[in-house]
Amino acid sequence: MALIEVRDLNLYYGEHHALKGISMDIEARSITALIGPSGCGKSTFLRTLNRMNDMIKGVRIEGTVRIGGDDIYADDVDVELLRKRVGMVFQQPNPFPKSIYDNVAFGPRIHGVTDKRELDEIVERSLRQAALWDEVKDVLKKPALSLSGGQQQRLCIARALAVEPDILLMDEPTSALDPISTAKIEELIQELKKDYTIVIVTHNMQQAARVSDRTAFFLQGELVEYGDTAELFHNP
Ligand code: ADP
Ligand code: ADP
Repeated sequence: MALIEVRDLNLYYGEHHALKGISMDIEARSITALIGPSGCGKSTFLRTLNRMNDMIKGVRIEGTVRIGGDDIYADDVDVELLRKRVGMVFQQPNPFPKSIYDNVAFGPRIHGVTDKRELDEIVERSLRQAALWDEVKDVLKKPALSLSGGQQQRLCIARALAVEPDILLMDEPTSALDPISTAKIEELIQELKKDYTIVIVTHNMQQAARVSDRTAFFLQGELVEYGDTAELFHNP
C-alpha cells in the first residue's frame, strides 16, 4: 500500500477550480517532484497533504487523501498531530527570530518535551540530519538570522525533522538560494529519502530530474503526466 493515497481530489477557491480530479499514490521513502507552470496548482496540491489549505477562506475540497490508510479529512482528525506527521519547508527560509537551538527545540517543546538532556539530543540529531551540525555546534545560542540563507534553510529542515515526521513537504525549497546552497540541499534531500517520504514543488525541471524518483506534471489544475522520473525525462 502506498503511504499517501490521493483519490479524485478537487479543490475550489470559491468559484475557481484549482485542482481537478487528482489521484496519486506516493510510496514511503520516495521523492516525488511536482512540476508545471506558475499557477497550475502545485502549491495548492502540496498543502492538501497536511491540510494547510484549511486556513484559507472559501476553500472547498472533494475527494480523499489517505496517509498510512487514514483519511486525513475525516471529522475526528487532530490537525496538529497531522502536521507533526507531515512537516513543511517553504521557499523563503523562515527561521524564528530566536537562537539556532530554540528554533530546533520549538516543535518538541510544543509537543511536551521539557527535559534539557532530551532536548539537547533532539537538537543535535536534527541538526546532524540536516547536515548543519558541524557548522553550528559551537554557536547554538547565536540568532538563527545570523546564518546564511542556505544555512537558514537547512535549519528550517532541522526544525521540521525535530518532531519526527514521516513526510516532508517542500515548496520550492531552493528557489531563494544560490547554486552552492542549492546543491547542498539537493544532496541533503536525497540523503533524507532513507528515512522520510518527500514531496517537493519545483519550477526547475533539471532539479526534478536530479532529485526525484517520480514526477507529477500539473497543468491548469490537472495532473497531466505522472510517472518514473527517469522515464519521463528520457529523450529517445
Ligand atoms: P502553483 O504553486 O503551481 O504556482 P498555486 O497552487 O499557488 O499554483 O495556485 C493555483 C491556482 O489557484 C492559481 O490560479 C492561483 O491564483 C489560485 N490560488 C492559489 N491560492 C489561492 C488563494 N489563497 N485564494 C484564491 N486563489 C488561489
Ligand atoms: P506560489 O506560486 O509560490 O504558490 P503565488 O504567487 O501563486 O506563489 O502565491 C503566493 C500566495 O498568494 C500563496 O499563499 C497563495 O495561496 C496566494 N494566492 C495566490 N493566488 C491567489 C489568488 N488568486 N487569490 C488569493 N490568494 C492567492
